[in-house]
Amino acid sequence: MSSITLKNLVKKYGDGFPAVNDVSLDIADGEFVILVGPSGCGKSTLLRMIVGLEDITSGDLLIDGDRVNDKAPRDRDLAMVFQNYALYPHLTVYENIAFPLRLQRGQYSDEEIDTRVRRASSLLELDEHLDRKPANLSGGQRQRVAMGRAIVRQARAFLFDEPLSNLDAKLRGQMRTEIARMQRRLGTTTVYVTHDQTEALTLGDRVAVLRKGVLQQVASPRALYEEP
Ligand code: ADP
Ligand code: ADP
Repeated sequence: MSSITLKNLVKKYGDGFPAVNDVSLDIADGEFVILVGPSGCGKSTLLRMIVGLEDITSGDLLIDGDRVNDKAPRDRDLAMVFQNYALYPHLTVYENIAFPLRLQRGQYSDEEIDTRVRRASSLLELDEHLDRKPANLSGGQRQRVAMGRAIVRQARAFLFDEPLSNLDAKLRGQMRTEIARMQRRLGTTTVYVTHDQTEALTLGDRVAVLRKGVLQQVASPRALYEEP
């Protein structure tokens, strides 16, 4: 678990209007922050800057107080779950979840990998599907595999980009409950992009509202959605 501090973050693509414009936010250790705003307001760009997939034009990004602007993604030790899951189709569920550990060559023994994969799949109720390939899973199961891949490594924080938007209403409800449960168990710092008010209300400690790259408001979900 880690704190994440955004200090005057700016992202410019070419010489256009900044996609992210002077965003400052302190995210506490263990906090669950929901990021909302209209399409094109810079939500994905901000997540990608935090995880290290996008260069920071100016400003500072701190993790546990250390400036990480120039750190490679794998040295930031954050886990991102994308909208489209990005699972490896030729690998089984087990190997998809184990993948981030195998990437850190030699750091984990086969035994350690096995323990971690089984712990993650038990938490996400994937135990019975470990030998299957993604093509043979439902949308909700695929989404859980993507989550499993994120939690297997015990990253310092999770970044979710509309992780439930491709699911039908029933699965979305189930996954929302599972994410809430996972959050209670793991308590990991999370930044979560969504358009869904129910997700914001059930999962979020705070909601950050982005508009045209500018952070307009940060408030508790109740203050934001339930005020007259
Ligand atoms: P959101 O996730 O809120 O929909 P994005 O972060 O994807 O918004 O995009 C923010 C703005 O930056 C948009 O105007 C988008 O067109 C622009 N943008 C995003 N990615 C790129 C890119 N790789 N090159 C140029 N412009 C981009
Ligand atoms: P989202 O569903 O998050 O809104 P987008 O359609 O904005 O996704 O972006 C999908 C991909 O296209 C991203 O990788 C983003 O960087 C890229 N992209 C978005 N806008 C532009 C742009 N104006 N020019 C170049 N690439 C862009």
